[in-house]
Amino acid sequence: RQQVIDEVRKGGLAGRGGAGFASAAKWEAVAAAPGPHKYVIVNADESEPGTFKDRILLEQDPWRPLEGALLAAYAVGATRIYVYIRGEYPLALARTREAVDILRMAGYLGSGVLGSRFSIEIEVRSGAGAYICGEETALIESIEGKRGFPRLKPPFPVTHGLFGAPTVVNNVETLAAAQTILERGAEAYCAYGTPKSPGPKLFCLSGDIARPGLYEMPFGIPLGDLLARAGGVNGKLQAILMGGAAGALVGPEALGTRLSMEDMRAAGLPLGSGVVMVFNSSRDLGEPIRRIARFFAHESCGKCYPCQLGTQRQTEILERAAAGAALPGDRQRLLDVAWTMADASLCGLGQTAASVTLSALKRWPELFPDG
Ligand code: SF4
Repeated sequence: RQQVIDEVRKGGLAGRGGAGFASAAKWEAVAAAPGPHKYVIVNADESEPGTFKDRILLEQDPWRPLEGALLAAYAVGATRIYVYIRGEYPLALARTREAVDILRMAGYLGSGVLGSRFSIEIEVRSGAGAYICGEETALIESIEGKRGFPRLKPPFPVTHGLFGAPTVVNNVETLAAAQTILERGAEAYCAYGTPKSPGPKLFCLSGDIARPGLYEMPFGIPLGDLLARAGGVNGKLQAILMGGAAGALVGPEALGTRLSMEDMRAAGLPLGSGVVMVFNSSRDLGEPIRRIARFFAHESCGKCYPCQLGTQRQTEILERAAAGAALPGDRQRLLDVAWTMADASLCGLGQTAASVTLSALKRWPELFPDG
């Protein structure tokens, strides 16, 4: 078990769901936590606008993430794996369920896997359409049969997770990468990427690009090279949404930025779940900014006030501006709301609900008129 964790650590695997937490550290914490039951959760509640990598992985190769989850379960001593799939992904759900049945028939599930002392079961659950259930503690609440509300942290899921037991929650791409590390070895895996961000990464390209789709590239590829691989921009580049609705809008000056954890952090940009959404100069950038604000106002779970009220106020201010009815002080009001949400919200949804607005305010202030 320790060898499995050590190999994943050597592979430098960081979570691919957005937070980038070291997977080996998470696995080690769960392995070390006391308790008769432990769980692994595969987070496939992929609801970030512009993200479709986990759907394609589960639709086209469910084996890789499932094998990664089995290896994680073996490493930490878990007895049950839950795969929580977004309800809007019927094909991914069907293919994953079919793959689990085949794994069972082949002897990889159940009591005494392949004659060993390792016993494991996999249960596939369908989400019901809430973006917040992609947040790990809300997802745990949802599996427990409750409303998808985030929990206060600490305690963290590695010690108090599903049904109060130590739990690994990993994204689909993370577990697929863990399988690759363990199949090919950490050394082969680290031949790709940068020293601090080893391996390949999936990028979801969409918008005004010649060949939109899913691209697997080594970490460290410059943003401009990634766009060139996809046939280049349709028209003149105006902006790129990096990291999804919780990400940031950047201008053409960001094309030289290398897409690694460390380079993106240094540039103050989010890599998030790998969204790269391109807007050419014919687009009204205010439109996607308002759409994202409405999305967060709709998806806020309402548990804490900064986000419950802030996402509504953000939407109102942006819509006033679009209607030519901005009030005096609206720009400052927008900044106050944005920073209050970022500083005081309980979970990542509220903390990042104004990230796109703030990035656009800095780069395109003319989009945010004062009355
Ligand atoms: Fe709910 Fe938003 Fe608070 Fe998160 S930040 S707990 S989504 S209200």
